[in-house]
Amino acid sequence: MGKRKKSSRKPTGPRKREPLDSTFTCLFCHHDKSVTVRMDRKEGIAQLVCRVCDQRYQSKVNHLTEPIDIYSEWIDAADAAQREEPPPRRPAASSSRPAPRLPIGSDDD
Ligand SMILES: [Zn+2]
Repeated sequence: MGKRKKSSRKPTGPRKREPLDSTFTCLFCHHDKSVTVRMDRKEGIAQLVCRVCDQRYQSKVNHLTEPIDIYSEWIDAADAAQREEPPPRRPAASSSRPAPRLPIGSDDD
């Protein structure tokens, strides 16, 4: 007869914080979670490596840097590298040819 009291009360505290996700999808081989970011805050260095295709990337970190930051940096770097636009080469400006000397203010009239 007794209705069971449902305890519908959920704990309202903050959810258990999961560790920061530090595995990502690889840009190159597209394997899910194959890229790992290891942060060494003591050294101020983060190392990103794909365990499938062995892509690597290293960057500096500070106390605010998170693995996702390294990952997005890597994307930018990879993107830039993919374009691989060689910088336009300027012919070395030779100074062997002196500029023509123009008489200034030669009033020849
Ligand atoms: Zn990969």
